[in-house]
Amino acid sequence: MKEFSIIDHFFKQRSYQRKDVLIGIGDDCAVGKVAKGQNIAITTDTLVKGVHYPHDTSARAIAHKAVAVNLSDLAAMGAEPAWISLSLAMPESDPAWLEEFSLGLQEISEYYSIQLIGGDTVQGPLTVTITAQGFIPEGQALTRSDAKPGDALYVTGTIGDAGLGLDVVQNKLRIPVQFHETICDRLNYPTPRVLVGTMLRRVASACIDISDGLLADLQHILDASSCGALINIDKLPLSQAMLESVDAEASLNYGLTAGDDYELLFCVPEDKIANMERALLNANTAFTCIGQMTGQAGKLEMQFNKQPFVFSGKGFEHFSG
Ligand code: ADP
Ligand code: MG
Repeated sequence: MKEFSIIDHFFKQRSYQRKDVLIGIGDDCAVGKVAKGQNIAITTDTLVKGVHYPHDTSARAIAHKAVAVNLSDLAAMGAEPAWISLSLAMPESDPAWLEEFSLGLQEISEYYSIQLIGGDTVQGPLTVTITAQGFIPEGQALTRSDAKPGDALYVTGTIGDAGLGLDVVQNKLRIPVQFHETICDRLNYPTPRVLVGTMLRRVASACIDISDGLLADLQHILDASSCGALINIDKLPLSQAMLESVDAEASLNYGLTAGDDYELLFCVPEDKIANMERALLNANTAFTCIGQMTGQAGKLEMQFNKQPFVFSGKGFEHFSG
């Protein structure tokens, strides 16, 4: 297949249509309309085979994950996702792969009502880059930098599951068969916390999505906000699958350092806690208070059942060492 028929068949015809897109795929640029009083949040993430997903990951999962990780960044800023573009490098044009990939893209686009508005298609090692735009009411962006000592520290969902899934698909670990699908889905089909992100506007003082591991991502909040934090390790939300698959030490290791969960980690001032909890309960989202922010800039302390807890591991980092 030629480049233009690939773009037309797999991407243009399958793109979800939004009213705020004036010009979509097919011209030199896309043109979109921004409602009055809204700001645009923009983010880009690239997935490289073997680095960001195992070699045998399905095309559908790659499409889902490439979009989901970008929507997770938008969620962490409190933005409502609107548009995405796709830069796709692939070694050859494989219609079966493109079919599965574009259906995966269509599926997640329809779920979140986002439109694929353009991109680029080139030959090269398989690399998928998505850029996403979302809207935030003026002045309401959630940043990493406004946490204050005394704010409570929360996390959505359960943590460490995607890291557990990675070890399972790479045959480094066997887990009970009844958890296999859920855990592998946590790795391949992450759920960006889009609704929660919008609910945290004007409520959370700082927010980040957990892509590199709880400790690594919390450190970004500490650095940006010039705060410290105290985490109660015994409060970490670990899934049933995690608790029944590995021992206590391994589960803490996954929970504190494994990446790819795309849960939100956020700080809430005391006078906003009741509102936040009510909103998240209404949204049917699990959330857990795991500690609080403290005054010593950059300092991270941990306790287990109120006793000091020492942990030596680290979250995932590219170019480390
Ligand atoms: P140009 O040469 O102007 O960069 P291209 O030939 O790369 O244009 O792309 C033609 C049109 O198809 C553009 O509107 C571009 O945004 C869109 N497009 C190209 N590749 C993709 C893709 N992978 N997904 C979505 N749209 C794409
Ligand atoms: Mg181009």
